[in-house]
Amino acid sequence: MTDDRAWILKVAVPIGRRRLFDYLAPEGTEPAALQPGARVRVPFGNSSKIAFLIAVSFDSEVDRAKLKSAEAILDVPSLLNATDIELLLWTARYYHHPLGEVFSTAFPVTLRRGKPALIQAEQYFGLTPEGRTANPDLLMRAPRQQCLLAWFQTQPGSFSTGQIAGQHDNWRPAVKALLARQWLEPRPPPDRIVTAMPVRTPELQANASQQTAIDAVTQALGGFRVFLLEGVTGSGKTEVYMQIIRSVLERGQQVLVLLPEITLTPQLQERFRQRFAVPVTVAHSKLTDKQRQAAWLEMQQGVCAILLGTRSALFTPLKKPGLIILDEEHDASFKQQEGFRFSARDVAVARGKMLQIPVLLGSATPSLESYYNVEIGRYQWLHLPERAGDAQPPNLHLLDIRNKRMQEGLSQPLITQIHRTLDKQEQVLLFLNRRGFAPTLICHACAWIARCSRCDANLVIHYAEDLLRCHHCGFEQGLLRHCPACKSGQLTPLGLGTERIEQVLTQLFPGKTVVRLDRDSTQRKGQLESYLEQIQQGRADIILGTQMLAKGHHFPNVTLVVLLDVDSGLFSIDFHGTEKLAQLIVQVSGRAGRAQKRGQVILQTRQPDHPLLAVLLRDSYRRFLQLALAERKAAHLPPYSFQALLRVEAAIAQEPLTFFANLDAPALAGGQVQILGPVSAPMARKAGRYRYQMLFQSAQRRPLHLFLDALTARIENLKQSRKIRWSLDVDPVDLY
Ligand code: ADP
Ligand code: ZN
Ligand code: ZN
Repeated sequence: MTDDRAWILKVAVPIGRRRLFDYLAPEGTEPAALQPGARVRVPFGNSSKIAFLIAVSFDSEVDRAKLKSAEAILDVPSLLNATDIELLLWTARYYHHPLGEVFSTAFPVTLRRGKPALIQAEQYFGLTPEGRTANPDLLMRAPRQQCLLAWFQTQPGSFSTGQIAGQHDNWRPAVKALLARQWLEPRPPPDRIVTAMPVRTPELQANASQQTAIDAVTQALGGFRVFLLEGVTGSGKTEVYMQIIRSVLERGQQVLVLLPEITLTPQLQERFRQRFAVPVTVAHSKLTDKQRQAAWLEMQQGVCAILLGTRSALFTPLKKPGLIILDEEHDASFKQQEGFRFSARDVAVARGKMLQIPVLLGSATPSLESYYNVEIGRYQWLHLPERAGDAQPPNLHLLDIRNKRMQEGLSQPLITQIHRTLDKQEQVLLFLNRRGFAPTLICHACAWIARCSRCDANLVIHYAEDLLRCHHCGFEQGLLRHCPACKSGQLTPLGLGTERIEQVLTQLFPGKTVVRLDRDSTQRKGQLESYLEQIQQGRADIILGTQMLAKGHHFPNVTLVVLLDVDSGLFSIDFHGTEKLAQLIVQVSGRAGRAQKRGQVILQTRQPDHPLLAVLLRDSYRRFLQLALAERKAAHLPPYSFQALLRVEAAIAQEPLTFFANLDAPALAGGQVQILGPVSAPMARKAGRYRYQMLFQSAQRRPLHLFLDALTARIENLKQSRKIRWSLDVDPVDLY
């Protein structure tokens, strides 16, 4: 028997489908308990799943008698408020991604799995009136109690168990005893956001351009506006953030600060914690699930005022939102590249608009999109043209290596420069974006090349581990000594990786300490931190590394920065390639001479006349952006048009093509959406799967999105879709 007046729950189940599912409300559910956003445990297939309540209704397209009952509603009240839900609905629609997965992304893993939404709250204690006047001398025989009582008496207010534990050993029995004497009493947790004195340590005296930026954003608090703060590394952006945050805190509001994973260093957290008297919490991938849940709930409940987090922290509910900051806004890590492919930058701007709060984007090398938004007046540009303090900008030189004698990638003039720098007891930083020993193993006798059997890619030589490894699928095999084709012993490494450069550096500069930072050398937990410390303390002469070096870290004693090979980045097939290379050059350059010493940057190239390099060196990054924008405009590329990429892959080569034939995208496109493809992906085979893609482009956003609605609906209904894997990438930044 089903009650035909029972509520029907429309829930989003995180299973990759774009439709909602109907369930009957659990028996005895009060209408007040039915709040959108609440987690609901529902039977699904042979098990149960955690789904999200989207709406309630009396109607269902399915016969009531066939509907199952939800097992339980987990959140009363819901953990999401109306604007949180609005944001997730908007994001799902914009990226044409299944709602259940979008909701799931917004929650920390523990809550996704249905764990109760509890924070282990700290207990607080304060003195009773008797305790305040009690004489500690009475406790001569209980020194710990005496000490604790005296400590409490020196300052007003209440203290948490954490604060007490920080100052007193074995404090539990002492607290218990003082409670028994009724000198101490439990107190409710103070409202930790609203505080008259949010700043603990004095702020630096802002310079004129910093002050202009601070004033502009501070005056915009309470409404929506997007700012782009452009400032080279060391120009004092973080200081600007912190002074603006102070004003937000004074309004009793919270701040969300998003950073790329790698720049969320303990030093930065420490800087925030030292500055602010309010609680600062962090959310990144190295935390335990429990810690991440705590950070999420602390923001949701308004216990915590500042969250420093990476991309996925974007969806954290905020009780009293005041400001969103996104630092290094150009960084590729803000775009999720698998599953739910959202851009944290773009969604942050949408969120700011919904919440009617400002969004502050910061970078030394703003993205082309953000710069474009400044040009058309949508974002307000703020600029810090100089390095804060007295640090000097670095000098950039192109080093033409054509016809120069090279020792494993190092030209003679470069080696001389390195010697000079080391002789002055200064540090050298070398950048090469390729790990391993060499990217190719080739037979000198017959030209056989070691290829991955599962990808269209060469295997990379890792000598130290005696391995050949595929950097695309992780395939590994032992290093070969003889050519499998002609049996000769003439296998030769071709090209350069960090491991090989490390070896040659050790030979060229005997007695000098070389530290290599790449994904291989920093795999063990804590290894990166210990290398960074070694560098900071001056116990490294030469620092060699990949991408990892480009961001965030301060190396004050580095005065020479070298990009060993910029040419490989100049000829990318992806139109985003030049932008990324320009950003990389400027970012890596920013590592040099951050303190009082003027830095030098050397770029080794065989293309000294390349227009991109010329503009960067003779002119500025800004001038580069202007030229790049003009090129994009002429070619009708984003941001002057809108794109979406449909990726399809299957283990059987024919399946994707059959899929595209059945899909018949052109029939859905109408006149305003252009279709390019299907074509093989630039890496046509990866991990044993054949990959194809189809690019959609339109001069307007709206027709593209209407088309994508129709397209995704059609794909979900096609039988052939089950034989392939597909994904849709709206505003793709990587066309691979
Ligand atoms: P960014 O975030 O742009 O790299 P930071 O805010 O970290 O720059 O500032 C770089 C260095 O300059 C830091 O050591 C900081 O303490 C210092 N600094 C920033 N602003 C000022 C200022 N107004 N006066 C003096 N030093 C400053
Ligand atoms: Zn051979
Ligand atoms: Zn592979």
